[in-house]
Amino acid sequence: MQGQNEGLVAEDEMTDVLNDVVRDDSSAATSDLGYDALFDAMHSELYPGVSSFSSLNFLTKLMHLKVVNKWTNKSVDGLLKLLKLAFPKINLVDSHYEAKKLMSKLGLGYESIHVCRNDCALFWKENTDKEICPVCYESRWVQIAGKSSGKNVSHKVLRYFSLTPRLKRLFATTHTARLMRWHNTGRSKDNDDLGHPVDGKAWRAFDKNHPDFACEIRNVRLGLSSDGFNPFGNMSQSYSMWPVVLATYNLPPWLCMKEENLMLTLLIPGPQSPGKDMDVFLRPLVDELKELWTSGIDTRDVSNNNCIFRMRVALLWTVSDFPARSSLSGWSGQGYDACPTCNEETPSTRVIGKTAYVGHRRFLPSTHHWRNDRTFNGQTERRGPPPQLTSADILQQLSRVKIRIPGKHPSYGGVKRKRDKDELNWRKKSIFYELPYWSTNELKHNLDVIHVEKNVCDSLLGTLLGDPHKSKDTDNARRDLMKLKIRHELHLYEDKERLMKPAAEYTFINADRQKFCNFIRNVKFPDGFASNLRKNVAPNESRIIGLKSHDCHILMQRLLPVVCRAFLNKTISSTITELCTFFKKLCARSIKVSDMVDAQQQLILILCKLERIFPPAFFDIMIHLVMHLPEEAILGGPVYMRWMYPFERYLKKLKDYVRNQSKPEGKRSLVVLESDVRAQAEFYVLNNCPEIETFLNEHKDQLQTRGVTNVNQLHRIKFPAWFHTKIYGLHRINADDVSLELLSLASRPNAVVHSYPACIVNGVRFLTYDRDIRRKTQNSGVSIAGTGGEIFYGQLQDILELSYINGFSVVVFRCRWFKCDGKRKVTENNITIIDISREAYKDDQFILASQARQVFYIDDPSRSHNWRVVQEVNHCTTWDTPSMVLTEIDLLHDDSSSNFSLFVDIGNLDHITMQRVDIDAIQLDRPAKRASSSNVSGDEYNFINDKEEDIEDEDDNDEGDNGGEFEASDTETDCPSVEDDDDADRSNDSDYE
Ligand SMILES: [Zn+2]
Ligand SMILES: [Zn+2]
Repeated sequence: MQGQNEGLVAEDEMTDVLNDVVRDDSSAATSDLGYDALFDAMHSELYPGVSSFSSLNFLTKLMHLKVVNKWTNKSVDGLLKLLKLAFPKINLVDSHYEAKKLMSKLGLGYESIHVCRNDCALFWKENTDKEICPVCYESRWVQIAGKSSGKNVSHKVLRYFSLTPRLKRLFATTHTARLMRWHNTGRSKDNDDLGHPVDGKAWRAFDKNHPDFACEIRNVRLGLSSDGFNPFGNMSQSYSMWPVVLATYNLPPWLCMKEENLMLTLLIPGPQSPGKDMDVFLRPLVDELKELWTSGIDTRDVSNNNCIFRMRVALLWTVSDFPARSSLSGWSGQGYDACPTCNEETPSTRVIGKTAYVGHRRFLPSTHHWRNDRTFNGQTERRGPPPQLTSADILQQLSRVKIRIPGKHPSYGGVKRKRDKDELNWRKKSIFYELPYWSTNELKHNLDVIHVEKNVCDSLLGTLLGDPHKSKDTDNARRDLMKLKIRHELHLYEDKERLMKPAAEYTFINADRQKFCNFIRNVKFPDGFASNLRKNVAPNESRIIGLKSHDCHILMQRLLPVVCRAFLNKTISSTITELCTFFKKLCARSIKVSDMVDAQQQLILILCKLERIFPPAFFDIMIHLVMHLPEEAILGGPVYMRWMYPFERYLKKLKDYVRNQSKPEGKRSLVVLESDVRAQAEFYVLNNCPEIETFLNEHKDQLQTRGVTNVNQLHRIKFPAWFHTKIYGLHRINADDVSLELLSLASRPNAVVHSYPACIVNGVRFLTYDRDIRRKTQNSGVSIAGTGGEIFYGQLQDILELSYINGFSVVVFRCRWFKCDGKRKVTENNITIIDISREAYKDDQFILASQARQVFYIDDPSRSHNWRVVQEVNHCTTWDTPSMVLTEIDLLHDDSSSNFSLFVDIGNLDHITMQRVDIDAIQLDRPAKRASSSNVSGDEYNFINDKEEDIEDEDDNDEGDNGGEFEASDTETDCPSVEDDDDADRSNDSDYE
């Protein structure tokens, strides 16, 4: 038995979660005034003679309090009873259940749309009634062995929350209705100030292009954000959902990014990220947006005497991290032309093993002396900056892009295909181009500043600290310098048959590295300002690890400029400080156009200086992207209204409902597992970890090729050790390839485990059987869906927390399973009856706690004493765990961009050398012969601009695969076990195969 039906189980759980969110959403948002006829009908007095407060109004407020404060249903029942007792004439429902029923009528439901398992198409509109996918012909339904009747289950479900009623509702309450005009009155008087997107160039251009839209100020402008996240935050369940969230930019800056004003419109199901098929899922939303642009919708505006006006809606832009930007825009963020702005003129070059985005001198004025300086890359620079492309140019490029079959079916949409040269980096013409106004929008896709900042910070820190896993100053980076014949002082050299690597000026010496780590460990921030960085200092005080994006933000903006001065020479430290100052300037609450124009120029100098300091391998695409951030600010306004933070925080709310899915409870005790039991548990966890599926298959294949007879049995026995060796081997080669989670899983669980008497799973409480028999209630019944959808029933025997290295743990249930095959299970009139006299699967007793569904058993008076009737228990959030307290985090500088002076000192680069003379060169493991500089001939390597790289169609491993160069943004700011799906994809698709 294997409970591998996680996708379905997960889907199922999401429904509960969503119901909660929707309930929360509706009760929070309708707490003001009536919105439609239904509402009016229920508009009755709370108490005779009290006309100011309706019964419904009271109830919405009560329910809102309940959700916010996590009251139990029971406490609401009690409160309602008390109120009725104290005020006999009060007009209230009797119970929480009734209140909920009432609310759900008001609330905003969602539509469940079935999706082909390969993401080819939605079973929607013209496909609503189809049984098979119109693209790949696969069945819409999960095939359940032995099940011929009953309700069909779809492979995947897209949740779609219609936009229109929620937008209408914004005008149904006096308060928000007025604020929806803020953008018209609140825009800056001074053309130089950027306080809101309305002040940006893109908004003005939009108004100019669409005067008929602009003249009705109540028309709505939206921003769209999407990011992958794992709602389960559990390393043994890699599941990536892609919520699509909208923000309303009509509202003032202090409200527009507030959680309650963000709207979830689509919940794209996992387990993998949609990638190139994003557009399939965006279809319902884009159709609705088209309708809302062309025809609009009649909307009642309570702030204007309930007058009806025709509301129209426009999508201004998207906000996402760089990998997600590829899915949304269609422009691949990989290869020579990775930069969406520079397009086919992206400054890039091939270095050993990767693409380096260097060549920023082309942005300098044509007379700048650095253009003639050969110390940059051995060449002078004559090219001008890349041309600015107009929307017509882009449309022209897109017209050359061929239509592709959507989906991931290996014979249809999933077929690998090379991109034609004239398609450039375009993978598709994005679905947004169906919006009549999209092509002329000046800022279509915003880069998440925080994400860029994090990746820059990681590269910088890794290199400064000489982090063996993160430094960009690798041996190959030095070989690049040798090929370019620049910075001779850093070239590898032979010394008595040994290969030596001279220390570089941009790397701390050992003692300083310790000092730096010590500094980070001891820095103290005010309450709520930042998370404690102590945890990020590696035990040997030589590396900083596990930084989340907010940590990087603090490091870049507060700490790095301070510490660099102490440990690096002036040219290097001032260049890094200048870069940090730029980020400070950019992250100011109000920014000035003139500052950004200025910063743009300064950045070119900063990037050039960095190129002069660091080897080309340092420059991944994220470093280059920094250069476009000022432009985007000028177009779109302050970054805090165009970055992922608010959206991530919103998603966290979603996640709060699912987090701590399985939370062990009660007095724990230490238990030593016998080796066979431990092996059983260990294998179960590994076998139920989708992230390592490729390894599982690889191992099985190996066994098969060796011709062993009992593959499955051997696989079960041998896999954990094999996996351990494999992962640790990979880790040794390149630690970046191996996530902390994988490494922990491969570390094998400790034989000493914690045992608990109770555990809460998705809000349902489980007790072990021996506890249960002493009680008057029953909480030990367990069921799990098997691979084919069949259900297994059992009793919970043990709750064990397996612990791995790095503090990871997995909670598993050891169960006694009933053998209820064949005649031992009967279903009559929807009643399932099982024979519990025999036990089964003694060698496969474990399941993940998160997979367990509760059941309870009652005697069947119509049968003998061995038979039990199975009753299912609904997993909802009756036992809500307290939600995590969000600390206020300092992201913005409460300042203006002008308060940070950014003046780049172009100094005297000519005479600096990059070798650290105060430390000896390091001896390398590898033999000297392979790379001695005498073997490297300039012709052989044709280093500069060898634009011959094959244009691979990366459709299969697109967004996730960024060559391991940079990280996708982390949705979670504090939970180390969150596996970003982009990382997961990367590990599945490219690095390990
Ligand atoms: Zn299909
Ligand atoms: Zn660029």
